Amino acid sequence: MEPGLEPNTQHDLNDGHRTILISGAGIAGLASALFLTRAGYRVEILEQAPKLDPIGSGLQLSPNAMHVLAALGLEREVQSVSTAPTGIDIRNGFSGRTITRVPLGEKITKQYGQPYLVIHRGDLQKILYEACQREPDIQLRMGVTVRDAVAHPNGITIIADSENGTGNFRGVGLIGADGVNSVIRNECFECKGPIATGTFALRALIEKNQMPDNIPADKICMWLATNAHAVVYLVRGGAFYNVVLTVPDGFFKGSPGSVLFADRTTVSGRDIAKKLGKWHKDFTHLLDLDAAWTKWPLMAAPHLRNWSEGNITLVGDAAHAMTPHAAQGAAQGLEDAAVLGAAVNSVQPLELAFEHYQKQRIKRAYAVRSLSQKKQDPLPIATTTGSHSKHRNVGYGWHKNFRPPGLDLPLDATGQLGAKRNGFTAILESNIRLVKHKARPSDRALMRMC
Ligand SMILES: Cc1cc2nc3c(=O)[nH]c(=O)nc-3n(C[C@H](O)[C@H](O)[C@H](O)COP(=O)(O)OP(=O)(O)OC[C@H]3O[C@@H](n4cnc5c(N)ncnc54)[C@H](O)[C@@H]3O)c2cc1C
Repeated sequence: MEPGLEPNTQHDLNDGHRTILISGAGIAGLASALFLTRAGYRVEILEQAPKLDPIGSGLQLSPNAMHVLAALGLEREVQSVSTAPTGIDIRNGFSGRTITRVPLGEKITKQYGQPYLVIHRGDLQKILYEACQREPDIQLRMGVTVRDAVAHPNGITIIADSENGTGNFRGVGLIGADGVNSVIRNECFECKGPIATGTFALRALIEKNQMPDNIPADKICMWLATNAHAVVYLVRGGAFYNVVLTVPDGFFKGSPGSVLFADRTTVSGRDIAKKLGKWHKDFTHLLDLDAAWTKWPLMAAPHLRNWSEGNITLVGDAAHAMTPHAAQGAAQGLEDAAVLGAAVNSVQPLELAFEHYQKQRIKRAYAVRSLSQKKQDPLPIATTTGSHSKHRNVGYGWHKNFRPPGLDLPLDATGQLGAKRNGFTAILESNIRLVKHKARPSDRALMRMC
């Protein structure tokens, strides 16, 4: 790992002529770096954190995300620290009764060519980070905070701070991968900062040996209710359960709004239990266990007409941060990285490649985001209305998220992404059937509210 920059560092332009700068070493930034080096570029990643910190908690990795990780050759590493749930149990938060079961496991793997996994965000970031460290053409600079970027005829200059002072970095292009609060988005795309979604997550990691038996280890468990929803699954290679409860801003009396939770303060399980009301004990038992619950504001990126401006583009949450209800934020960032790599590999100059990337991605990513944010939806669960109802299925609204992004690299001669060729069809394209085919009226009402 390289130390931070020296004050007023000016990189040799001969070196800079094929260097792309990336602001942010999150999932999207690191994956983009790996794809860009495959397209023949040298990459410098500037990350504000002085060292890798396992921030965040669990991530569901759907097959579209896994296809990207497999394209990077990281499939096995990812599988070694993740678990593969056999299904999703969706329960009524108040009665505890199972509403429906969504099959995952082998069925999904067979259908979509990759498994549906769950992983800790920190573990995934570490795998990508170490893959970047192995690449001679990637330089990781930790403890470097990007303040601004200026485009000029020779490329891009970044102004950044480190403990050594303020300095410059030059490259032919810049990728803003600096997350929902992106400086690059705010400085270069003239938009205001992130938008509070009116909800926040309460997140905890609970040791596996503390968990009661009624929480199955081989499933993702969800509880739906009108005032909150919860998701529980195993991460860290099976050592911990990731528990996330999503609630509206007004959940805690006198709560002034999610922005004020930006400090990620913790709250006790007991306090949460008091506010949750009459939830079923299968879930409320978890609030008695020894765990720190972190309040996590759920912010979204503002809607942008363009993600690419000349030799600058955005990926991941910087471009399209969304609520977590579709479990797709990181997956969409990974798709960005793959499509960006393909565009840079086959379209010249860089400016056009960035434009091309945007064209391929913006519609899909915003469609996924809209679905996730629909009605401040506390769960990615659909209603029984529309085309699904005639099949008497409950369409799991989330299936629409998995339209093929065309990860068959590189672009074909016409500039189209080869979605058909790789046969990568939408995961969960098929509707998810109710266990007993018919939801009870009370559950249907709950689903509609969601
Ligand atoms: C409760 C919750 C549950 C979620 N569940 C899922 C899920 O199941 N599946 C899924 O796919 N997604 C999920 N997500 C979304 C997912 O976590 C994010 O979409 C994803 O981590 C974003 O990755 P990123 O690389 O774009 O941004 P980030 O992970 O935010 O990375 C940005 C990086 O940029 C750095 N940075 C920021 N500013 C600067 C600067 N000025 N200079 C230098 N560096 C900077 C940051 O330190 C950070 O390392 C969930 C999110 C939440 C909140």
